[in-house]
Amino acid sequence: MPTTRDVQIAISAADVLRRNGLRFGGRLNPRVRDLVPDLLRVVETEDLLQPAIAYREWQVAAAEGTVMRLANGARIEGAPRLVEQLADATSMLAVAGTLGPRLDAHVSRLFAERQPMRALVLEEIGILAVAKLGDAIRDLLDEEAKARGQECSSPMSPGETGFAMATQPTVVALAGGEEIGITLSASGAMMPVKSLSMVLGVGEDMPRWAAWQICAGCAARERCRYRLVPQDEAVT
Ligand code: SF4
Repeated sequence: MPTTRDVQIAISAADVLRRNGLRFGGRLNPRVRDLVPDLLRVVETEDLLQPAIAYREWQVAAAEGTVMRLANGARIEGAPRLVEQLADATSMLAVAGTLGPRLDAHVSRLFAERQPMRALVLEEIGILAVAKLGDAIRDLLDEEAKARGQECSSPMSPGETGFAMATQPTVVALAGGEEIGITLSASGAMMPVKSLSMVLGVGEDMPRWAAWQICAGCAARERCRYRLVPQDEAVT
């Protein structure tokens, strides 16, 4: 299965300061503003981000109702949105990506040392880095599909509306996540925590959507601090 650790994740202080997760009552604490460049330096000097991606393409045998059936006999069940969006896909890419365990370990250490604000800002940097990892995965797979004269759809992740969280073990196994050190807890949560899994369709005229459109259909949108709105992102 293809794996790569050749992934560049660039995060600027401006990227971090735009995050809703660092605003309380809509306002940015001046101490947070000072901490961001300092913690970005820590990320760099202590090599806290160690991104890795594993992925594999599988032929689609049938997509009906809530089940995507693959040519190897695997079934992704509880996925009506996947079936609907990838109805015309000839194959699908299962992907797992991680930033490794170092950033989470550093966040835990900061909490243990009673430095909660540093810990929270570093955690926010990690959440942003996972989003950037998702963007890097999409760019990599787009490029590879284009080189073969095909297209990728936008990605879908287990846990999104119409794609049950219970599918995550299947998606991670199909991607070969264990080859980059990803394991799953009994509840299906990924370890390291700063990891993600996703599925993309491959074929002609694959559907694309912006990430804010996922948030627009999410049951948690009213209480979610990370909800994206149209001005956050243009459809690609
Ligand atoms: S609203 Fe929040 S929980 Fe729902 S998809 Fe968007 S970021 Fe995820």
